Amino acid sequence: MKVPFLDLRLQHQPLRAEVMAALGDTYDHTRFCLGQDVDDFERAFSAAFGYARTLGMNSGTSPLHVASICGGFGPGDEVITTPFTFASSCWGISYVGATPVFVDIDPDTWCISPEAIAKAITPKTKGIVVVHIFGQPARMDEIMAIAKAHKLFVVEDCAQAVGATYKGTAVGAIGDCGTFSFYPTKNLGACGEGGAFVSKHPAVMDRAQLLRVHGSPRRYAHAEVGFNFRMDGFQGAILRVKLKHLAEWTARRRAIAAKYRTGLKLAGVQLPVVPSYGESVWHQFTMLHPQRDALRGHLDRCGVGTEIIYPGPMHRQECYAALGYAAGSIPVAEAASARCVSLPMFPELTDEQVAHVIASVNSF
Ligand SMILES: *Cc1c(COP(=O)(O)O)cnc(C)c1O
Repeated sequence: MKVPFLDLRLQHQPLRAEVMAALGDTYDHTRFCLGQDVDDFERAFSAAFGYARTLGMNSGTSPLHVASICGGFGPGDEVITTPFTFASSCWGISYVGATPVFVDIDPDTWCISPEAIAKAITPKTKGIVVVHIFGQPARMDEIMAIAKAHKLFVVEDCAQAVGATYKGTAVGAIGDCGTFSFYPTKNLGACGEGGAFVSKHPAVMDRAQLLRVHGSPRRYAHAEVGFNFRMDGFQGAILRVKLKHLAEWTARRRAIAAKYRTGLKLAGVQLPVVPSYGESVWHQFTMLHPQRDALRGHLDRCGVGTEIIYPGPMHRQECYAALGYAAGSIPVAEAASARCVSLPMFPELTDEQVAHVIASVNSF
């Protein structure tokens, strides 16, 4: 039996007629950049998760850039973040000339450790970029308490965590702002690039809205130097269709994760821990094993696709060599990178495929 790591065609084929009709409408009404499709998507996205407003953008990286500007980060400032993430999480810090300060992660959830944040605070610290990695919410109460005590701006990178909750609140609404990616492989994926920005502060939303379109409060007026971070109208139309199915897809991801968690019995494996404070949306089902590469080879021979997410922590990447982090300086994140392997996790997996993945892992 073959179990691909991911096959988006299985999600897209049943939606084909609905998506094509929506694209046809967009083609005909010709509002291609933002416009009514993006407005509709933003409203539906806000309603689905309880955000006051949502700003659709052209990627998940752009709202992280906007977040750094809204947080007032700049040269000489330090912003604390996790190295165990996709690169974009720290790009926003670097784009504005601030310095990312990488700290370690919790050994069970692999999200940034509040204790490690507390130890890294200096007079230069301006903010924190939290990443809800693999869809698992980070420990926001502890993080917000530190932020309050030191007047820090907290960005939640929710690229992998659309719909995840922390103590009943959707991620992105707890910190000062939240950012999303609709890259095709994310839980809610566009057919191309997309992203979004949310904030509980109306003034931050207003600033982000200006920055999204050339700093323009109205046509050909420019209050500040802005960007072209507009969401594409076709992507808004597609996302509006796909959003209607997200709750059912998330439920299926949770059911698959539950099967993995009860079925996987391989000695030495560390499964993801589900904390009592929140609900994951299982963007990835990632586990750790000391013989990760040999395990991957075995799974490949069993027809099971896997990925290593992420093989190199950000503090050890060439682009940040000048920051001078030595090997071994952030041990939990480095151990996770050395041992992690992600199993197939997408809503269209059949129960037979899930059973095959479990049997294949257990037979290693
Ligand atoms: C995907 C992702 C992003 C960036 O999104 P793009 O849409 O590719 O720009 C940022 N942070 C994390 C954690 C991601 O997984």
